[in-house]
Amino acid sequence: MAVYRGKYILEGLGSISPEMEHNLDIAYDICMSYKGDFPCEMCGRCCHQPHIVVRPEEIDRVSTAAGIPLPVFMTEYLVRMPDGRFLFRKTDPCAFLGKDNRCTIWKDRPQICDDFPYAVSMFMSRVYLALTNPDADIMSLISYMDDEWPCTRVIKADIASKIEAARKDVVVQRSGAPRRSRAARPRTRRTVCHGPVPPG
Ligand code: SF4
Ligand code: SF4
Repeated sequence: MAVYRGKYILEGLGSISPEMEHNLDIAYDICMSYKGDFPCEMCGRCCHQPHIVVRPEEIDRVSTAAGIPLPVFMTEYLVRMPDGRFLFRKTDPCAFLGKDNRCTIWKDRPQICDDFPYAVSMFMSRVYLALTNPDADIMSLISYMDDEWPCTRVIKADIASKIEAARKDVVVQRSGAPRRSRAARPRTRRTVCHGPVPPG
């Protein structure tokens, strides 16, 4: 398991090498390209999912926003996973989804809610896989995304072409030696992996 940018847990990756980090940056940029004018229609479907991650540094903020004393929040609203992550205990729907399908702690919601659905680890790891494996079909990889959700329809409309356009920038690794693809552009931004999510 690797952690990217201190928040995305990428299952199946042990550690992130410099060339992987370069390619993850490309995958991240593709995911975040959806953030600008994201057509969230507040259908509330995403707030019925399991696995809403609350990072340790977010716990105090979220419990305060919810008006729940920290000890109660820790025991009744969170569940700690063996890998140190905290998840919301109550999902489907989330305890903080209002009857009007609006988040009742919106300004202080966990980062993963703000990032959904364009940069959560599951989507990003599939974009990464499609970028780095020419045989991988992104549409098959993201078939789990429900077409009835307004946001995922937008992503499915052009994710394949975005990945295709970005392939030229991917660093390929052959015979153990990392090699940049011919047309790879130099990237000036440096991403730091902050290591495993600290236990709370
Ligand atoms: S499922 Fe998508 S469109 Fe619906 S509330 Fe969540 S982010 Fe918005
Ligand atoms: S915290 Fe808010 S945005 Fe996040 S799942 Fe719960 S209701 Fe939805």
